[in-house]
Amino acid sequence: TPPESIRNFCIIAHIDHGKSTLADRMLQITGVVADRDMRAQYLDRMDIERERGITIKSQAVRMPWAVTDEAGVEHTFALNMIDTPGHVDFTYEVSRSLAACEGAILLVDAAQGIEAQTLANLYLALENDLQIIPVLNKIDLPAADPDKFAAELAGLIGGEPEDVLRVSGKTGMGVEALLDRLVETIPAPVGDADAPARAMIFDSVYDAYRGVVTYVRMVDGKLEPRQRIQMMSTRATHELLEIGVSSPEPIPTKGLGVGEVGYLITGVKDVRQSKVGDTITDQRKPAADPLPGYTDPKPMVFSGIYPIDGSDYADLREALDKLKLSDASLQYEPETSVALGFGFRCGFLGLLHLEIITERLTREFGLDLITTAPSVTYDVVTDTGETVSVTNPSEYPDGRVAEVSEPVVKVGILLPKDYVGTVMELCQARRGSLLGMDYLSEDRVELRYNMPLGEIVFDFFDHLKSKTQGYASLDYEPAGSQTADLVKVDILLQGEKVDAFSSIVHREKAYSYGTMMTERLRKLIPRQQFEVPIQAAIGARIIARENIRAIRKDVLAKCYGGDISRKRKLLEKQKEGKKRMKMVGRVEVPQEAFIAALSGD
Ligand code: GDP
Ligand code: MG
Repeated sequence: TPPESIRNFCIIAHIDHGKSTLADRMLQITGVVADRDMRAQYLDRMDIERERGITIKSQAVRMPWAVTDEAGVEHTFALNMIDTPGHVDFTYEVSRSLAACEGAILLVDAAQGIEAQTLANLYLALENDLQIIPVLNKIDLPAADPDKFAAELAGLIGGEPEDVLRVSGKTGMGVEALLDRLVETIPAPVGDADAPARAMIFDSVYDAYRGVVTYVRMVDGKLEPRQRIQMMSTRATHELLEIGVSSPEPIPTKGLGVGEVGYLITGVKDVRQSKVGDTITDQRKPAADPLPGYTDPKPMVFSGIYPIDGSDYADLREALDKLKLSDASLQYEPETSVALGFGFRCGFLGLLHLEIITERLTREFGLDLITTAPSVTYDVVTDTGETVSVTNPSEYPDGRVAEVSEPVVKVGILLPKDYVGTVMELCQARRGSLLGMDYLSEDRVELRYNMPLGEIVFDFFDHLKSKTQGYASLDYEPAGSQTADLVKVDILLQGEKVDAFSSIVHREKAYSYGTMMTERLRKLIPRQQFEVPIQAAIGARIIARENIRAIRKDVLAKCYGGDISRKRKLLEKQKEGKKRMKMVGRVEVPQEAFIAALSGD
C-alpha cells in the first residue's frame, strides 16, 4: 500500500470508556471480522484482560475503508489501528505505540468526562505531534451529557464543541462518520522508500506456537521475507521467517514498506530479544542511526513473592521463567526470608504490573502465594562514599548511611470539586507537594502533586478511592529523585529480626509503622511457653514494644495416665502442626500469622 493510502491511529481512552467496544464495531463495520465470528472485546486475547477489562498488550489491526471523493471516485485506504495499554505502569509502551501513529482518537465516555489516565495519554500524544480526533462515546446512554463534555473536550484541546464527534461503540451509531474523519484528518505517513530499512518495534508478544511475534511500524525502506535483519540496540541479527499484517488474524505478505504497520517473526523465543522501542534495520545495508526514543524500561516497584507451601518453590520458579518469555519488564532473583522461607525478589513497572503478575501466577499456574509489602529503589550513599541501590529493606546498610534518596513521581488526580479538601489532606499526609490545580469544568478539578513513589505504593490508591467514593482517578509519571530523612524500621521477635517486616519509612512515620506492626503481630502470634517481646527498632534503638505472655503448653497433660496410643496420636498431630511453623530464634510462629500480618487487617 502506498503511504498516501495509509492512516495510522490509536485510541486514547480511560479504562471502561469503551475502547475495546469501539474497536469491535470498527472491525465489524469495515468487514474484517464477519458478524457471525464477532465476539465482545475481540482483540483482548488474555483472559485476565477480558475479565478485568484492561488491555495489557497492544495489538495492531489493519482495516480497509473506502471513501468517495467529490468526483464520485472511490478510494480505498488502509487504516491501521494500534491498540495501546491503558495503564500508568505501561507508559513507555504507550509512548512507543503513539510514536507508531500519526493520529489518535481521544475517546471519552459521554456520561463521565475526561479522567486522569486520558489526560496523561493525551499529553503524550501531543508530545508525539499526533493529530487528535476528539470523540464522545456511549451517547446511547440516558445519562450521557454530550453537550457538557463536548465543551470540556474543546476547552482542553482547542477547537469547537461542534467538531467533537459523537458515537456509540455499542450500537455503532456515528462510527462510519468517525472512520471517514480518520481518513480526512490524519496525515499520511512519510518516510524514505529508498533509504536503508528502519522499523520501530512497538510491541513484542510471546506466542507458544510461533515464538515471539514482533509488531513494527515501518519508517524507511522495506523489509521482506528471508531478509537478514539487525536489532540496532544489541546488534543481534535474525532471519525474517515471516512478515505480514494482522487483519486481525495474521496474513503473511511479500513485505512491508514505508508507513506500513505489521508483524514479523524470526523464531526467537524470548521477548527480550525483540525489545519494544528498538529499531530493526537491514543487516547488509544498515541504517546509520536508530529511530529516537528507545530505552530499557526499569522496574520501579519491588516485592518478595513466596509460595505459601514451601514445596511449591520449584513450580514458582518455572512459572516465573515462563512469564518472563512474554514480559520483558518482569525481573526476579532468588531470595530467602526467615519468616517466609525460599522465594523471589521481583521487580515490576508499577503496582498494577505487580498485581497482574501475582494474579497470573495464582490463576494460570495454580500457586498459593504471599507477597511482601511493595518497596521502591532507594539510592544510599554510605559513610565510605559508596553508592548502593536498595530494593529490599532488609539489605539497607544500617548505621552506615550518609544520605538516602527516594524516587519521586508527578501525580495527576482528577476528582469532583467536593473532594478537593479531603484529597489534599491525603496527599499532604503522604508528603506530597502541590504543583497546581485546574478546573476542567465547573465541577471537575485536576490536582497535580510531586510525591515520593514509596508513599504511593503503600495503598495510596485504595485510600484515594475510598475517600472519594471511587470518583477520583490517578496517574503518575517518574519525576527524578530527592533526598529524604528515611530510616529503616525492623521488627524483632525476642530480639531476632523478622526480615519480611522491615520497612524503609520517613522518620516521622517510623513510630506509627512500628506500633502498627507490633500490635498486629501480638494479636496474631500464639502464646509460647515463655514470654516473647515484639519490638520495633531503628538500628539498636527500640521505638515500640508489645509482649506475648507465656503459657505452659503441654499436650500430654490432657491425657493424664491415659493409654499410650492416644498419646502417640497427639504427639504426631503436634508434629504435623509444626511443619507449617516457622522458627524465629526460639519462637514458633505459624506461617499464617506472618501472612495475615503482611496482608494487613
Ligand atoms: P475499555 O476498557 O475502554 O476497553 O471499555 P470496554 O469496551 O470494555 O467497555 C466498558 C463497558 O462500557 C462495557 O460494559 C461496555 O459494554 C460498555 N460500553 C462500551 N461502549 C458503549 C456504548 O457506546 N454504549 C453503552 N451503553 N455502553 C458501552
Ligand atoms: Mg479494553
